[in-house]
Amino acid sequence: MNNIPPLDLKRQYQVIGAQVSAAVQEVLTSGYYIGGSPVKSFEQQFAAYLGTAEGVGCNSGTDALYLALRALQIGPGDEVITTSFTFIATAEVITAVGAKPVFVDIDAATFNLDITKIAGAITEKTKAIIPVHLFGQPVDMDAIMSLAQAHDIVVIEDCAQAAGARWRGKKVGSIGHLGCFSFFPTKNLGACGDGGAVVTNDENLAASIRMLKAHGSNQRYYHEATGINSRLDALQAAILSIKLAYLDQWNDARRQLAATYQQLLQPLPEVVVPQETPNAHAVWNQYTIRLTKDSSSSSDRDQVRNQLQQRGVISMVYYPIPLHLQPVYQNLGYQPGDLPVTEQVCHQVLSLPMFPELSLEEQQQVVYALKDCF
Ligand SMILES: *Cc1c(COP(=O)(O)O)cnc(C)c1O
Repeated sequence: MNNIPPLDLKRQYQVIGAQVSAAVQEVLTSGYYIGGSPVKSFEQQFAAYLGTAEGVGCNSGTDALYLALRALQIGPGDEVITTSFTFIATAEVITAVGAKPVFVDIDAATFNLDITKIAGAITEKTKAIIPVHLFGQPVDMDAIMSLAQAHDIVVIEDCAQAAGARWRGKKVGSIGHLGCFSFFPTKNLGACGDGGAVVTNDENLAASIRMLKAHGSNQRYYHEATGINSRLDALQAAILSIKLAYLDQWNDARRQLAATYQQLLQPLPEVVVPQETPNAHAVWNQYTIRLTKDSSSSSDRDQVRNQLQQRGVISMVYYPIPLHLQPVYQNLGYQPGDLPVTEQVCHQVLSLPMFPELSLEEQQQVVYALKDCF
């Protein structure tokens, strides 16, 4: 039997390949590879899909977050609250602009920021919160927005893993002041290379981001700020326009797969499955279970992972080390035990194969293999 990969983009390409090739050919023959109509149309389509006034393409999700912070003029002396249980980029951009990340513990059931612990982390230096809709599960945006309003701080949604997810019917990215997306190939809406976008309803912020991503320039060879070069390529934009039309159906397939996993995994007492929270429409970029038999060490989890691999199932660990305990953040002074839920979850998590084209037979094989491990 073939190995079951965590993700197989070849299968997606088999379906949309002809359309993608035609769009790529069109850009190639046009002779215009930077900016132009493919980028403009994708920016408009993506903003329309999310329900925001503005969409600005850029080179990556990391740049999207960086540009958002820069547009808000967040820098040295400022604090930004976020989660420690995320990909490094979320916090990396905070330090890149010279501000200080302040990590708040998570809720084990959602893997997202624990709403009840945010207020205690707010100081007079807090300028922004970056909630991450991790694995495609929306954060409680009602709670985030009312905290932000009460303390006059800005909300930058990290939607890298949650394109198309909704909170109370509203697409994530359209609820906070700014929404940041990644089009890295493994995301729900992925390019064939790097890409990202910032969306907002604030015209001034959008204008700042357009200026900063183009070397701090609105007018050619006139520079008003130290910017960067961060472009969404015309080729990637053309590909993303094709793929955007499929996003909802792919997300529906992910939701169906999640429901099937939940049903198949129910009889396993060692496994805690992720649950969609009330008001949330999750899009399951990852389907991440927790192995709760031995919560004190990751060796049990890693053993299960190895056994699964022997049975042809490739699982992943997102994320083995929380950001507050990473070598790069030693200077922030966090100690083991500071964020107990985050630290425990890092030992327990295992992400199972999840992509829209995964078959029921494969899911069954994953679950049989998992049952064999206990
Ligand atoms: C992927 C990801 C990013 C960064 O996106 P890139 O396009 O890889 O730069 C940021 N935050 C989260 C949560 C991500 O998963």
